[in-house]
Amino acid sequence: MSLEATTIAAISTPLAVGGIGVIRISGKQARQVASKVFSPVGSRQILTVSGYTAIYGRVFDQDGDIDDAVVTVFIAPRSYTGEDVVEISCHGGLYLLQRTLRAVLDAGAVPAAAGEFTKRAFLNGKLSLTQAEAVMDLISAQGEQAARSALSMRDGKLFRKISGITSGLLQTAAHLSAWVDYPEEEIPEITDTEILTALTTAKEQLATLLATFDVGRVMKEGVETAIVGRPNVGKSTLMNLLAGFQRSIVTDIPGTTRDIVEDTVNVGGAILRLADTAGLRETDDVVESVGVELARKKLETAGLVLAVFDSSDLLSDEDMRLIEAIKGRPAIAIVNKSDLEQKIDLELIKSSIPHLVYTSAQSGQGVEELANVIAQVLGLYHFDTSAAMIANERQRICAERAKTAVDEALAALNSCFTFDAVNVCIDDAIAALLELTGERASEAVVNEVFHNFCVGK
Ligand code: GDP
Repeated sequence: MSLEATTIAAISTPLAVGGIGVIRISGKQARQVASKVFSPVGSRQILTVSGYTAIYGRVFDQDGDIDDAVVTVFIAPRSYTGEDVVEISCHGGLYLLQRTLRAVLDAGAVPAAAGEFTKRAFLNGKLSLTQAEAVMDLISAQGEQAARSALSMRDGKLFRKISGITSGLLQTAAHLSAWVDYPEEEIPEITDTEILTALTTAKEQLATLLATFDVGRVMKEGVETAIVGRPNVGKSTLMNLLAGFQRSIVTDIPGTTRDIVEDTVNVGGAILRLADTAGLRETDDVVESVGVELARKKLETAGLVLAVFDSSDLLSDEDMRLIEAIKGRPAIAIVNKSDLEQKIDLELIKSSIPHLVYTSAQSGQGVEELANVIAQVLGLYHFDTSAAMIANERQRICAERAKTAVDEALAALNSCFTFDAVNVCIDDAIAALLELTGERASEAVVNEVFHNFCVGK
């Protein structure tokens, strides 16, 4: 039996106690199935009403009435899945929902697999693959920015952007093939400059898109952040301030933060996975040296380094080692204890770390400025959440492949290869972009995308 031949059903709201719960039924028999478990109070019948109609009544099974309910009828193709859909909204208790679902299954529906409603929407041309992925991102979005950008993707921003690039490449490829294949026809010759312009435009658009991936990931998953600095400069105090609660041990004895303490915080819209580490000191203490080594590693891998210094003290050798170690890393120098008299040599820090913020972690002063600078360093500041954005690894790999193919086409053009050779590369780029939007994705890729969905969506 083909996928669309079945009528599927699932509970589409969370399996928890709530005011309203929804059971969604989709497929050719959706209205017949629903009418076997629902009796309307008025004269309107599920089988005869037009689409977008709500009917009040009762759901029942062989043991009797289950609950009051409102059913909403959608008629193909004007529904989420593109098939006939009936949604039964009843009260949100677990028992009621499960009993109603059982009645619906007894009436002829089969349980929907994870993501199957959205998969059908995709197969029926209601959504592109990138839009379907955005539905999933929207469900799991944690921050406001992430949700807003998933919503723009759901509206098809990425799909339209990619389609624009693809159609530019298709035009060039079509023109080239026509000219190469039908030399006797009067097709005007396409010049190297025209091809060059088209390819360069595609390359730049792809590069811009690819750059959105890192910012998008920061928005969705947060960024690995290392708080580093010698003992007693105020790292733990700062971390506690950012986390909003006491977490790592704060003491006056240098070297007490030995392990890495981790925490996820939202600082002015940026999600930071914070790790408070030991300082980079020379030490004979075995336990402490392990901490120092961990700190060094963390410095190398972190997406953001918050380097803390004590403004009331001169720069020590350890401070100098830290400044040296983070040269060229995405780092912010935090000059802490700004409430005390300043002794620190700022010029030395400024010459190596471009971003510098004064804080008093103890009083909380400077933390807003720090949030602003973090957003700036991570590229979130002017990030347009309504712009097209690469949202996941699958999309990134396709876009990367397309860009490499465009690069190769440009190289072929510059080395005066035949137009045929250029065209082969352009074809590769187009294939990668069609896979990205799902217009030419293999079944395995499509299955993998929907496999990650939850049941009922
Ligand atoms: P860590 O070793 O770098 O984690 O430093 P801690 O956070 O444990 O702080 C060491 C000491 O400095 C504690 O006594 C803190 O209360 C104090 N301290 C932290 N931040 C400030 C600050 O901004 N101003 C002042 N005056 N003291 C601070």
